[in-house]
Amino acid sequence: MVIDTIGNVLAVIPKILLLDWRFANHTISPSTESYLVDYFEARQPIVGKTQAQLNEYAPHHDLSRLVHNRNVAWPYRTTIGLLTTLVIDVMLPSRVFPWGNYYNPWTNMMHLYSDDSPIALHEAGHAYDINRRRYKGTYAILYIVPFFDLFFEMQASREAIHYLKETQDHDMEARAYKVLYPTYGTYVGHYLFPPIGTVAGVAAGHITAGRRRPSNSTVIERCPPRHRPRSVRPTLSSWTMPLSPRQIKPLRPHRRLRLTSLPQPILLRPSCRPPIVKFLRIWP
Ligand SMILES: [Zn+2]
Repeated sequence: MVIDTIGNVLAVIPKILLLDWRFANHTISPSTESYLVDYFEARQPIVGKTQAQLNEYAPHHDLSRLVHNRNVAWPYRTTIGLLTTLVIDVMLPSRVFPWGNYYNPWTNMMHLYSDDSPIALHEAGHAYDINRRRYKGTYAILYIVPFFDLFFEMQASREAIHYLKETQDHDMEARAYKVLYPTYGTYVGHYLFPPIGTVAGVAAGHITAGRRRPSNSTVIERCPPRHRPRSVRPTLSSWTMPLSPRQIKPLRPHRRLRLTSLPQPILLRPSCRPPIVKFLRIWP
């Protein structure tokens, strides 16, 4: 699709910085979908109302979610939530612009444009982090406070890596270090004379990731009872759970993942976005 090609080209700088050609490649494979579905199931009921849009531009749906998202108090949704959704989800969508993947806490909607499972889990980790809080709106708005975003980003990446350790998916855990560490470096770096600081942060992330090795420990205590080993993980197209009217058509170029009977989460995006976008965005 032409629009996806444009999005791919515009994201060339983040791709190079992160050494990840899957970043903003605007195509989501069944494998990445499968990771997301398994994660949603594993983190029920916390992310039960979160939804995910897979390389999709559907502003009417985002606005509808903003109206009906009872997870966040209306004063937040009618102010910062409305501004964020209009700018990021409606006017400057990542379907075209290279802002990357993200989770919008005001709509409780995750937006994924990269066929990279660690990134998908990171965004889902944002949803998990927010939805487990009692005062979700108050917690979410802290993201725009300088330096607090570093805490949020670390929480999401830790959750993604922790999940991969839980499921003993060592190969993907190793990839998560390579993808999520440099991404986190962009968040640290933009506080240090960007873009030079951003590049330095990414470099530090790559170096740190190179020293990490996947865990071989068996951490199963938090593993949910219904969790299945990765070897038998289903794809969305083979899903047999009562997802209620299947809202995903796996082979379409862009899809929406609505797990109405499962949890559904908010947003993430590997940085390299202008400060103003970051501010408005609320969720990387
Ligand atoms: Zn993030």
